[in-house]
Amino acid sequence: MLSALAVPLIAVALAVLFGLAVGSFLNVVIHRLPKMMERQWQTECAELNAGGSPAGTSPAPVERYNLLVPRSRCPSCAQPISALQNIPVVSYLALGGKCANCKTRISPRYPMVELITGLLAGYAIWRFGATLAGVSALLFVFAMIALTFIDLDTFYLPDDITLPLLWAGLLFNVAGTHTDLTSAVIGAAAGYLALWSVYWLFKLLTGKEGMGYGDFKLLAGIGAWLGWQMLPLVILLSSVVGAVIGIPMMVFARHGRETPIPFGPYLAIAGVIALLHGQAINRQYLNLF
Ligand SMILES: [Zn+2]
Repeated sequence: MLSALAVPLIAVALAVLFGLAVGSFLNVVIHRLPKMMERQWQTECAELNAGGSPAGTSPAPVERYNLLVPRSRCPSCAQPISALQNIPVVSYLALGGKCANCKTRISPRYPMVELITGLLAGYAIWRFGATLAGVSALLFVFAMIALTFIDLDTFYLPDDITLPLLWAGLLFNVAGTHTDLTSAVIGAAAGYLALWSVYWLFKLLTGKEGMGYGDFKLLAGIGAWLGWQMLPLVILLSSVVGAVIGIPMMVFARHGRETPIPFGPYLAIAGVIALLHGQAINRQYLNLF
């Protein structure tokens, strides 16, 4: 009796711990990936410019900067963050949300990202069990969290995440992990084309760009994971999430109507809900008719 419940509970607890640790890494990805891409573009621009200059001067060597080096430092006093100060959520609470060295306030977003990642990882394993569906669901959730916060910060959804997400979704569904392969392939194409059409229609009618190509690729990725049958629900949910979050944001934060609000986070949140509960919601929805 007890052991029947104990095994899934241990799996869920391990998933929460794993999720907390991954959340700590996602903080690094969210912070550094956009900066890494910017450096890449700058290097490429410099190379193009150097090609035209007669002196052929090579650009000054830059400090290595990727997801692993340099080690995390306090942005204020540049004190390296020790392993003990890097324990997800716990260190933040123990330090009272301040740098141990200079006492500058640390953004509560770091422990928040860790906590969200840990809880969603636990919930995904609770929902799917320690199966291929469960383990792949973790990857999907991690990608959605990284994309949400990068898009909030930069209005950009990096190809480095959206494209591997798409291919991984198709590969997992070769084994029918979340949907059958045909639904996955149609889902990927339909996800891209749906927003691509909206984008061009909007652009032709108003001359403005309502969203970015990253949004098309993200919906293609979600379609590859969950199948085309889930796309109407994802669009519907993202509009609901957008209204729930976006309208108070406009009212309270004086987020003017002209200030762009990224669409990626809404799609990503809708994708996670559809992954975890989409089939049940779709059944309920169909029962209405
Ligand atoms: Zn400091």
